[in-house]
Amino acid sequence: MEYLTILGSTGSIGQKTVAVIQQHKDKFAARALIANNNVTIMTEQCLMLSPQYVCMICENSAKSLKNNLRIAGKSNIQVLSGMKEACALAELNDVDMVMSAIVGIAGLTPTFSAIRAGKKILLANKETLVVSGQFFMQEVCKYNARIIPVDSEHNAVFQSLPEICQKKIGQLSSLSEYGISRIVLTASGGAFLGMSTEQLSMITPEQACVHPNWVMGRKISVDSATMMNKGLEYIEARYLFNANPNEIQILLHPQSIIHSMVHYIDGSILAHLSLPDMTIPISYAMAYPNRIALHHLSSKEFNNDAYNTCFYNKLYCDELNSLNYPCIKLAIDASNHSQSAMIILNAANEIAVESFLKKMISFTDIPNIIDHILNILHLNEPNAIDDVLYIDQRAKEITIQYIMNNIL
Ligand code: NDP
Repeated sequence: MEYLTILGSTGSIGQKTVAVIQQHKDKFAARALIANNNVTIMTEQCLMLSPQYVCMICENSAKSLKNNLRIAGKSNIQVLSGMKEACALAELNDVDMVMSAIVGIAGLTPTFSAIRAGKKILLANKETLVVSGQFFMQEVCKYNARIIPVDSEHNAVFQSLPEICQKKIGQLSSLSEYGISRIVLTASGGAFLGMSTEQLSMITPEQACVHPNWVMGRKISVDSATMMNKGLEYIEARYLFNANPNEIQILLHPQSIIHSMVHYIDGSILAHLSLPDMTIPISYAMAYPNRIALHHLSSKEFNNDAYNTCFYNKLYCDELNSLNYPCIKLAIDASNHSQSAMIILNAANEIAVESFLKKMISFTDIPNIIDHILNILHLNEPNAIDDVLYIDQRAKEITIQYIMNNIL
């Protein structure tokens, strides 16, 4: 039996992780669940999985949860609150793996706790790697933690790597040493591929939150629509696989069937293909190096339908010019500039997306705001994680101020 702590259990990735545990109760169990304030879903998860601990970041939510569990006869589950307790749950001695699926930089501190406890980290939270790449990898090496990428593209690259590279995530000296010439990240192009700027400016949060191929949380859905998600993934890939800018290519692939590819020096290309369903990379990461069946994907009718209609009939890739996607360009430029630029990019994006979801700004304002903040704010390079958090906070304050000044 392997025990998990799930950071962000009530979110889209968290719920799919819970679904995999439910299907394989003989192999996995949840030791601790962590979320911000969604008491309804957390109560359901506690009743389903009976974890030993649960932590809500919000204190009032923890009180409501405790009350729900008492009424349901589950007072044996210990209810905690606050980020310090969440970090302690990521370090528990008898936890084998930690699913890092809190959205945004809020996931940074508990993910670092898990790294420092030498855990196997199932990494979905890309923002943590974007804002702290070098520190992140240093700590992975120092504490002998294991990283298995969950983000579908990086999971696909991981699956296409030689085993020796899979074991060395965080310590890869170079890709060429292993005969790898290039990593190709595929991009669906988001929900609004091919729309004019005028059409894009009218996009509503409701429209942006519906992705053509994936069902995801609201922030990553907007990031996918602006293509900032691909920019963040580009940075994530650079750190995870120690790749140079000329070793990463982004290709348009609207069907989201080929999740990414690895080119080798002998001309071979290895790719990972599957239906767009995040339970696949999640279950792979949980069971690695083994594979486990997913009941909802293994029925005969489903397979026939899926393979015939979605798979072989529709495979199509095209060049992607990053100049046509301002958010990808901003992310690539930031990654070539400095760590502080990547922190500012991420912070300004988090605030801009939140403001768009609250209907304070338009969809096309998002890249313009991030660009503006990157141009006006220049801060020293971080020397430690506290500096990362300081730069993030400062960039968020400036972005909020800029948005408020411009909409009032
Ligand atoms: P969701 O918005 O669906 O879920 C976010 C989770 O984080 C929830 O459990 C939420 O709790 C928790 N959370 C939010 N804010 C805080 C906070 N301040 N402190 C602690 N917990 C918090 O996000 P997703 O599941 O879509 O994404 C999670 C991460 O995985 C993101 O980094 C995303 O980029 C990445 N990812 C997601 C994919 C997907 O398919 N969804 C694919 C690849 C990567 P509560 O519900 O209580 O608010």
